[in-house]
Amino acid sequence: MTQAMTIDGQTVGFEEGQTVLEVARAHGIYIPSLCYHRKTGPAARCRICLVQVDGVRGYQPACTTPARNNQVVNTHTPEIQEARRLIVNLLLAGGQHSCLSCESSGRCELQEAAYHLGIESPAFVIGDGSIVPDTSGVMIRRDLSKCIKCGRCVVACNHTVVNEVLDFGYRAHDISIICDTDVPMGSSSCVQCGECVQICPVGGLVDKKSAGKGRPWELESVDTTCPYCGVGCQLTLHVSKSRNRIVRVTGREVPPNDGMLCVKGRYAFDFVASPERLTQPLIKREGKQVPVSWDEALGLAARRLTRIKDEYGPESIAGIASSRDTNENAYAAMKFMRAVIGTNNIDNCART
Ligand code: SF4
Ligand code: SF4
Ligand code: SF4
Repeated sequence: MTQAMTIDGQTVGFEEGQTVLEVARAHGIYIPSLCYHRKTGPAARCRICLVQVDGVRGYQPACTTPARNNQVVNTHTPEIQEARRLIVNLLLAGGQHSCLSCESSGRCELQEAAYHLGIESPAFVIGDGSIVPDTSGVMIRRDLSKCIKCGRCVVACNHTVVNEVLDFGYRAHDISIICDTDVPMGSSSCVQCGECVQICPVGGLVDKKSAGKGRPWELESVDTTCPYCGVGCQLTLHVSKSRNRIVRVTGREVPPNDGMLCVKGRYAFDFVASPERLTQPLIKREGKQVPVSWDEALGLAARRLTRIKDEYGPESIAGIASSRDTNENAYAAMKFMRAVIGTNNIDNCART
């Protein structure tokens, strides 16, 4: 049943079970939140989503405060903004943040929060730069000097993709995100699926392959379906038009994958721009592959297949469709083998 509450003087409807943060977002009211993500749920760890609820002492984290009928909430009083400025300044001071060169600049939620709070430069001295990035992962770079310990990656790794690699290690000031028993990511049980990278709100985890290839605002987004297997994961290609290259791949938060991808779908996109890709048909002549026209190649293939079928029967021919083909191409290959050649000898190598 729809109920109503007041946020910043605006009366808004909500459904039973929603939090104040969800209701605010649904109505376009910006409340910064760094540890909350729809997929990993509320954590009330970063405390930046603090709001003031009428009749309740102190400030409440919007991500864990249930919306209630007739509730009155203020999200942007001067006191709240000042508290948020202090939190962001402390987060900045706890690491080594250099937005000018950071791969996450332009899509970083800490940077965005600082911008909305009018923080032009950190109020405190920032970290001493003693944390060395972990570059041992094949696809992922971990830079704990930019980690704000929000815990999203831990929940994502343990509960979303259930690979159980990441966790919080150590205690108090030394607390940090570790792989397995605090071994380098490249020596851990990590399968490099990249779910943690996609959900990290800052530059703590970044895709190695994308580094230095283009800023988020320079890239064009193209939504498509992953071509690797039959699951049909939905993904977005981030394309540099100036380089005519795919720079990054992210999963779309829609069925069937809800943002998740495997290592192939997320990182194995180099083949698209490979100089070794065939762009025209080849016919072997005197031991060498010679480029020819499509008419010539198709004519030769048709004559040879017809001859083999006439001499030895349709069961002497088999077809394998490429794992890089689209579903439609695979369907056409199946029809060709069954209806034209007359055999069921058709398969697809969708298992790179
Ligand atoms: S993680 Fe965010 S705030 Fe930190 S350097 Fe990178 S862009 Fe800036
Ligand atoms: S890449 Fe996947 S398996 Fe590895 S730490 Fe991240 S979420 Fe866990
Ligand atoms: S690596 Fe990223 S997602 Fe993980 S705790 Fe640090 S900031 Fe959060």
